[in-house]
Amino acid sequence: MKALIAEPSKAYRQLLETVCHAVDIKPIFVTHFDEALHHLSLHPVGLVLTSLQLQDGDGIKFCKKIRELEKTKHIPVILLTAEENKTIFEPATQAGVTEIFHKSDIPRLQNYLNEFINRASTHSNMDARVLYAEDSPSVAKLTIHILETMGLTIDHFTHAEQACEAFQTKDYDLLLTDILLAGSMSGVGLVQEVRRMEKGKGNIPILAMSGQNDSARKIELLNCGANDYVAKPILKEELIARVHNLITNKKLLDKLKAQQHLLQELAMTDHLTELYNRHFLMELAPKHISEAFRHKHPLSLIVVDLDNFKIVNDTHGHSVGDIVLTQTARILKSTCRNEDIAARFGGEEFVLILRHCDAEDARKKAELLRMKISDLHPEGIAISASFGIAELPLDNTCQFDALFSAADQAVYEAKANGRNCVVIGKVSPPDS
Ligand code: GH3
Ligand code: MG
Ligand code: MG
Ligand code: MG
Repeated sequence: MKALIAEPSKAYRQLLETVCHAVDIKPIFVTHFDEALHHLSLHPVGLVLTSLQLQDGDGIKFCKKIRELEKTKHIPVILLTAEENKTIFEPATQAGVTEIFHKSDIPRLQNYLNEFINRASTHSNMDARVLYAEDSPSVAKLTIHILETMGLTIDHFTHAEQACEAFQTKDYDLLLTDILLAGSMSGVGLVQEVRRMEKGKGNIPILAMSGQNDSARKIELLNCGANDYVAKPILKEELIARVHNLITNKKLLDKLKAQQHLLQELAMTDHLTELYNRHFLMELAPKHISEAFRHKHPLSLIVVDLDNFKIVNDTHGHSVGDIVLTQTARILKSTCRNEDIAARFGGEEFVLILRHCDAEDARKKAELLRMKISDLHPEGIAISASFGIAELPLDNTCQFDALFSAADQAVYEAKANGRNCVVIGKVSPPDS
């Protein structure tokens, strides 16, 4: 980025040159007020630094002049002063100075410039998609040009209805909408519709734009779900800053949500097998059970226990045992439907909850799993498992514990019957 620097002292110019070099700013040095103005009228720069004292004037006047001219009025102006007393602060601020630095405080200045440059580079480097509703071709052309200089991808529509349709099919990081649009739905309608459609999907930031700069309209817009408002005619720098802030916040929020989701997944997953863990099973099972009662549909629970697993561990080592567990878990998971639950209940013991599944269907599924596990031969080792099944009796208020006990008892019988087999258990009535 180029910066115009008005500074009469040669020594201080040299110092500033080093600072600029360090933060990747290209300095253009002038010493006089007139020269500085002349330069600005010809060549645009991203930033102005001016000394309070110039050879033919002062930095505050220079700033005032910059703010008066259409072409330069949005350029940030930094005032550098050797004055200790703060009386210049007020006139400087009134003149539109952006920041004031003491000439001796080079580290603070360098820090500021560094952040300024970083901000400018993220303003032109945004990887995001904007949904844009605007019916005026000239406003749209200008706005799209500004947004494109920020690196954004823009889907532009003239009607709110089209924007709604696009919103449903793609993910956007910002909705920018004019208030008066072609077609029957207004921008306010679009804001309301988007907020209605996104329920549960997370919040897209909305920036509303209007030529009518009245406060009642602004308040109405903010109340129906817009996050921010920008008045027409558009001020390039203002639009960039608002769009940048909204998108940056949205991305931070997305990141936070993804982390939260990951934490939730971790909290409910057994890390070795990636099946649900016991804790999650205990949370989810009662919900499935009461749902089965409510809708009177069958539900079965299967306990799967690997046979002689201690021998596998003792013979081949614990890490091979882990591989056996992981591969067994994979079979359990891939053989279950999405709506079923496959969980690791303990060491080499698994629980399946099968919805819409009576004992007979559960037995078929268990037989299939039993065969798949015998055929698995993980690391060349012959393994097998025993299965205990319990179907939820729908005529009483059986809870998870009773259902699990019945299946666990059935596994015990399967072990007694020589292992590698399936036994259907019986749930005891609640007060027996
Ligand atoms: P049975 O056929 O009667 O079920 O015999 P078993 O050997 O499978 O049953 P037992 O309960 O005696 O042994 C279970 C073994 O599972 C003992 C334990 O070391 C092992 N185990 C438990 N958790 C893990 C684990 O995370 N990794 C490995 N490799 N082994 C585990
Ligand atoms: Mg319009
Ligand atoms: Mg076992
Ligand atoms: Mg066991």
